[in-house]
Amino acid sequence: MLVLGVNIDGKQLANLLQEQMKEEVALLKESGLTPGLVVLLVGEDSASQVYVRNKDLAAARIGIVSKVERYPETITEAELLAEIDKYNADPQFHGILVQLPLPKHIDENKVLLAIDPNKDVDGFHPLNLGALFAGHPTMIPCTPYGIIKMFEHYDIDLEGKNAVVIGRSNIVGKPMAQLLLQKNATVTMAHSKTKNLAALCRQADILVVAIGRGHFVTKDFVKPGAVVIDVGMNRNEAGKLIGDVAYDEVAPVASYITPVPGGVGPMTITMLMYQTIESAKRLHR
Ligand code: NAP
Repeated sequence: MLVLGVNIDGKQLANLLQEQMKEEVALLKESGLTPGLVVLLVGEDSASQVYVRNKDLAAARIGIVSKVERYPETITEAELLAEIDKYNADPQFHGILVQLPLPKHIDENKVLLAIDPNKDVDGFHPLNLGALFAGHPTMIPCTPYGIIKMFEHYDIDLEGKNAVVIGRSNIVGKPMAQLLLQKNATVTMAHSKTKNLAALCRQADILVVAIGRGHFVTKDFVKPGAVVIDVGMNRNEAGKLIGDVAYDEVAPVASYITPVPGGVGPMTITMLMYQTIESAKRLHR
């Protein structure tokens, strides 16, 4: 069976949602509340610089006050924790994000634990992850949250569907599986030790791929008519951004598919903005 996949346009959906947020922020400002986001960036990692710039631009478009704090690679863990404390106490900022990865001498877990869970707009704090797993989330990791918004927008029914998530990171795979479960999908999590991965994936009505290996998932992994979500962001030899899914060969088999770029990425940033606004409203209730 040949099914021609509908391209899920994450960029277009992100623009639509950001327009709605812009209107909401304008109203909040009239009532005296300006949502604020601070991004802490350590070192010179070039990918991180791009992500932070894109977040800053999105915030500016929407009207969120955004500040990027840059620290040298040599900042100590104690100094970074003190900076987080400073922003935890600053009422101007409702969202705090520490751009990952951090240099090796800084314990990422300690840093994530130091962020006030009420300002943890990335949703990585164990308290927020715990609340998500217990079924009453407040802050949700932005990438899987954005994917759920895509399913909703494209009217993709998840109930009773077989969903396979490849990748089990705390920021993508695990929360994605939880959110799919909460939408009543039957969820299987796959990872590097999974046996017969392609055969397992061919059982999936919904396939979410978050591995970090360019064009790893070929058409042999995909059941005709499946929905394929590609989280991966990889550079090929030519330096071009590519996903984990071989889009050209998978798109004709899938019913829906996200491209890279222009799929999951713009939605991740959008949900970060969304959670900053929600956090501002909660903190000023
Ligand atoms: P990660 O922490 O490195 O986790 C990768 C996962 O993939 C691990 O669970 C690993 O299994 C699994 N894996 C690796 N090789 C595999 C294989 N051959 N077969 C099956 N599973 C395999 O990565 P991440 O942070 O979740 O990110 C995944 C990808 O998404 C990266 O390309 C990243 O850049 C991208 N990303 C994109 C966005 C966005 O906004 N678009 C946001 C976040 C991440 P083990 O656990 O067994 O090692």
